[in-house]
Amino acid sequence: MRPEALNPLFIEAEALEGVGPKLRRPLEKLGLKRVRDIAYHLPERFVERRAVADLDAAQVGENVIVELTVREHRSSPGRGPFRVLAEDGKGNVCTITYFGRAAYSGKKALPVGAQRWVAGRLDQYGQMLQIVHPDHVAESASALAGQVREPVYGLSEGLTQGRIANLALQALKRAPQLPEWCEPGLIERMSWPAWHGALATAHRRNDAAARDRLAYDELLANALALMLVRASNRSQRGLPLVGDGRLRAQLSLPFALTGAQRRSIGEIEGDLAQQAPMLRLLQGDVGSGKTVVALSAMLIAVEAGAQAAMLAPTEILARQHHETLMRMVQGTGVEIALLTGRDKGKARESILMGLLGGSIDILVGTHAIFQESVTYKNLALAVIDEQHRFGVSQRLLLAKKGRRTPHFLAMTATPIPRTLTLAQYGEMDVSRLDELPPGRQAIDTRVVSIERMEDVVGALSRHLEGGGQAYWVCPMVREGDGEQVGDDLAAAEARFASLKARFGEDVVLVHGQLRPEEKDAAMERFSSGEAKLLVATTVIEVGVDVPNATLMVIEQAERFGLAQLHQLRGRVGRGQAKSICLLLRGAELSETGRRRLALMRETQDGFRLAEEDLELRGGGELLGTRQSGDTPFRIASLEQIQRLLPIAHDDARLLIERDGGLSGERGEAARLLLYLFERDWGVQLLRGG
Ligand code: ADP
Ligand code: MG
Repeated sequence: MRPEALNPLFIEAEALEGVGPKLRRPLEKLGLKRVRDIAYHLPERFVERRAVADLDAAQVGENVIVELTVREHRSSPGRGPFRVLAEDGKGNVCTITYFGRAAYSGKKALPVGAQRWVAGRLDQYGQMLQIVHPDHVAESASALAGQVREPVYGLSEGLTQGRIANLALQALKRAPQLPEWCEPGLIERMSWPAWHGALATAHRRNDAAARDRLAYDELLANALALMLVRASNRSQRGLPLVGDGRLRAQLSLPFALTGAQRRSIGEIEGDLAQQAPMLRLLQGDVGSGKTVVALSAMLIAVEAGAQAAMLAPTEILARQHHETLMRMVQGTGVEIALLTGRDKGKARESILMGLLGGSIDILVGTHAIFQESVTYKNLALAVIDEQHRFGVSQRLLLAKKGRRTPHFLAMTATPIPRTLTLAQYGEMDVSRLDELPPGRQAIDTRVVSIERMEDVVGALSRHLEGGGQAYWVCPMVREGDGEQVGDDLAAAEARFASLKARFGEDVVLVHGQLRPEEKDAAMERFSSGEAKLLVATTVIEVGVDVPNATLMVIEQAERFGLAQLHQLRGRVGRGQAKSICLLLRGAELSETGRRRLALMRETQDGFRLAEEDLELRGGGELLGTRQSGDTPFRIASLEQIQRLLPIAHDDARLLIERDGGLSGERGEAARLLLYLFERDWGVQLLRGG
């Protein structure tokens, strides 16, 4: 149960004055459903205005407050702008311009002959000074006293700055004083205000201490919740798994394991032998060889007489894993089955029976493998590929699948910076595959302007004639709904059509809107070598392995993030042959875009690219509010995460060590914090454990 002290914050936004059904949708669009959300909807920046005696004292481009006398109204014919000519005390003339319906309010606020105080941005239009859509018009200077500095909030259609500022004020009024959950020494060292004060200040002015404090709260809540997961996991009884090595010894691997692979398997082996369930993340760049590590872990479970399951994020990957694993265990007698959402009827029944009876040792599949109707005889290890699509709460459900809590191995190919690893996987132990298998050649990466398309297609043609296969990636920046996607999809389809016209039936197309069967059929044609060219949107991003494909073309490469480009490029360079990656860029390139592509050329180290990506994106932020998509945070900026997360993490660990039940004074406050940031699953674990 949420502590009562927080109730005023969790009231629906509709309870605020002036929020009717009309505002509901605009607010929801911004994710503002409750009073709490509005209180935490911090300004993106502040406008600072300068009150000037006359226009001579102002700079073009500056936000000013100035007294003007209205001389004339000029309406334009048709849909043209409505202009008001006004004059300062020295006779300088300035045009105040309104477009569309705003003309009505302009006309009313600025009657001819009147003296008014106008706040807005001074621009130059031809020879004239101009203010377009002034922010405020008032009859007296004192009425604008509060407008010298004003917050600028993120808006959605139907909301205005004034409206949201007013809602923020109301939310602040309702927000209670809360006890301090931060460590007192830290508060003192950082000169941070208390929670309520920090919130109020953050809405009023750009104050680093207030912003940091609020960001820290969010980071601490997350770290605490993860620590509680960790502690609760430690206290659970899993099934210790000790393998005798008999199956692993029979594996038919065409290569020797790398040092990093051996080390990781050793770490996993150590975890599995414990009573407390393993909670480990295997982090390894694309191609670093995570599959065989996962297989070794699963074989330990089988050697110990138990079952293992491996979850893949997509149908394609599940099939590929299944095939790879089957090949590796050939002759060992280990039974591996595949289960996806598409298996129905008899086939599905027989797999379910095999799991229940224990004749199936390892199950590979999509989310279907953890459905309620799937019962295992003795599931002791769950492996999750591409963990970033799999949340903590899902994992807690999974824990109910075995008679005892299964050991858990998560794998990710997304090399993320250390601080973000801490943020997302802070509850886990980490094994890093930081060494690529030997014999990998550097991927020759080149940046080519789109204007040289003909050359690119020529090179592609020679590559295909030489018996090679290739990928051609078109951007689909946001897979999902919306106009952008429609355009992107159309572009991908058009590219497919033109490449097909040139290269014939050897070309296949894969994108997110295809039905699973169509997707699989196309992928199958490509991985079997029947199709030579795969045109795709980002669905090939994760895990596809076709060693004969050694050329990759990425169109509009500047639209992809570094991490994504790196993932895509990792599709090539998988065999012994030399691979090439062509990054096609548009005619115009932003500075960040240019930096990104240059970095791609410079290095192939995924962990380095991840750190640089963070720098590039973190550096551009002014205030802390920018949401950082790939982090679990809404308040903390990338920069704040880097700076404050390690502190929060240590602090959380100390607190749990001293007061694991969160029952002391600070512990109680920390519970409030967990509810405030809706990490209350952490608190629930506390009760259960
Ligand atoms: P990941 O899942 O980490 O991206 P995979 O497990 O798919 O990587 O391995 C990539 C490729 O490298 C596969 O073709 C695999 O057979 C091969 N491979 C894995 N380990 C080694 C090794 N130690 N030496 C040589 N090749 C390896
Ligand atoms: Mg993989």
